[in-house]
Amino acid sequence: MSQPTHPRRPRRGTWKPKPETTALLRVSGNPINGLGETAARRPSPFFWHSPDQHPWGDLQIVARQSSRSCPGSTEAFQAAYNYPELQPVAPVRNPRTAEELSQQVSRFALSHEADDIGIARMDPLYVFEGYTVEHPWVIILALAHDYERLREVPSDETNGVGVCDVGDQYARGTRSSYALANWIRSQGYHADPYPGPSAGALLLIPPAIAAGLGELGKHGSMISPRFGSGVRLAGVSTDMPLVPTEPRRFGADEFCATCQICTHACPPGAITPQKQMVRGVERWYVDFDKCIPFFAEAASCGICIAECPWTRPSVRPKLLQTMAQRTGQK
Ligand code: SF4
Ligand code: SF4
Repeated sequence: MSQPTHPRRPRRGTWKPKPETTALLRVSGNPINGLGETAARRPSPFFWHSPDQHPWGDLQIVARQSSRSCPGSTEAFQAAYNYPELQPVAPVRNPRTAEELSQQVSRFALSHEADDIGIARMDPLYVFEGYTVEHPWVIILALAHDYERLREVPSDETNGVGVCDVGDQYARGTRSSYALANWIRSQGYHADPYPGPSAGALLLIPPAIAAGLGELGKHGSMISPRFGSGVRLAGVSTDMPLVPTEPRRFGADEFCATCQICTHACPPGAITPQKQMVRGVERWYVDFDKCIPFFAEAASCGICIAECPWTRPSVRPKLLQTMAQRTGQK
């Protein structure tokens, strides 16, 4: 099922990082990630945080340079980092109930570029060490990839289609999360946006899963029942009273247990075939030390999310149906 003939996708096991890339890895990311730890704890700042917060600042520069060498990528990511101004919180609060406010939030987000939305109670375990988020709610926005563009990954100097779609979705996440934060502020409540691709105070995948937007896939990314693995996330924290959306199981976890498409497609073999204990949770895990050199050299890669069968619009409905029958989930 992997695509060994793809011009920019080396066969698994045939690719080796450049020595200068290996030299920049410096220390393993797996202990920092909490691999093997049986107790829950907050995540440590990691790749894509500010370079003074982790050991891979120079590797981050390599990753950014390889991405920006692809045609169109600089403009796409500039839009993602074009942060609108945050407005002051209005003095008068919208008096509606939490149910009504949740509906208003959802309507606003879905009419301002978000493709899906979920609401979760804030959990300290969503917040990176060294950061404080006092708001009791986190809203997660999902921004769907264009599959035909995403399937072009990885990008390089000859073809930037895939990485440009990554930049475009992050840019939508920036606009959407800032617009929603400003709308909430205009209703008299505090709100802060957390767009990608740089990391901020919040993990986004765990609250997205808690809010019912998807399940964790073997490739370490979220699988959405609506968009598969071709989806980016942005967050908004707030003190506006809201109602959480329910977690949703649709069989992705069970499917991953026997599927090996991403493990075979990943050139450096970074996707662990069995679940691992990570900060007190047994879950799918990607070996940072194997993934990140290829990710850095190959313009942020993305092969695993593009290859995941849930990402294919023509396959996803059938998978949903099959897994609903197999697991009895809806
Ligand atoms: S992003 Fe990382 S885990 Fe996914 S295919 Fe690329 S190298 Fe492998
Ligand atoms: S490719 Fe297969 S194993 Fe990998 S995340 Fe998708 S469904 Fe799971």
